[in-house]
Amino acid sequence: MTVITCNCGETEAHFSSTKPLFRLICCCNDCNAVLHWAAWKNDRIFYPAFQGIDKIYLENSLKIVKGEQNLRWIKITKDSVCLRGVAVCCYSSLFVENLSILGPNIACIDVDFCQVNGAEPCEITAQIFEKDIPSNREAAICQSFEGPRFMEGPEESQIWPSVIPTIIAAQSKEINTPEGFVSLRNIIEKSVKAYGWINLEGYNDNGAPPIVLAEREAQ
Ligand SMILES: [Zn+2]
Ligand SMILES: [Zn+2]
Repeated sequence: MTVITCNCGETEAHFSSTKPLFRLICCCNDCNAVLHWAAWKNDRIFYPAFQGIDKIYLENSLKIVKGEQNLRWIKITKDSVCLRGVAVCCYSSLFVENLSILGPNIACIDVDFCQVNGAEPCEITAQIFEKDIPSNREAAICQSFEGPRFMEGPEESQIWPSVIPTIIAAQSKEINTPEGFVSLRNIIEKSVKAYGWINLEGYNDNGAPPIVLAEREAQ
């Protein structure tokens, strides 16, 4: 079992597996914007301001054991299929569903933005979306990275020597769903029915600055 806890400890989820299917470092604007937004909501500093986000991918079989009422789902743009579950007790990011890239069997966890216990170590499979990195961060993020590197994501890259087979194998792997465990889909549907989505208004996927924050609500 892999235990995912928000940073304040009020929200906890258990994944049935411990072995990551693969691990990516994602440099995309969307990941950076939404994590920057979450840090800002909790009066933390997102530092460095742009970074490669370390992600492990587990079988999409989990249960929320604590603080389900804290969970909200972020849709960065209206049409986004990349859905991020944030625990609003402390604005930790707990997991991401992306049916278009990952399919229904895989859940993503940004390991530096929540607490992860029990997951087995996993080598980095690749670094993706380097095209989104601002030029002043290129040296720090790209040039120092030693594994396979890609300008785009898996769906747009023709040549993914070892990466695509790893992802395809993970997508078609039969997942183990013990009694009481569900997929992110079930958790999202329940949460969104009760609380709706959170949208990052003002975030423009095609805009020049990688990170544009929504207006802070009046206190
Ligand atoms: Zn919390
Ligand atoms: Zn990303």
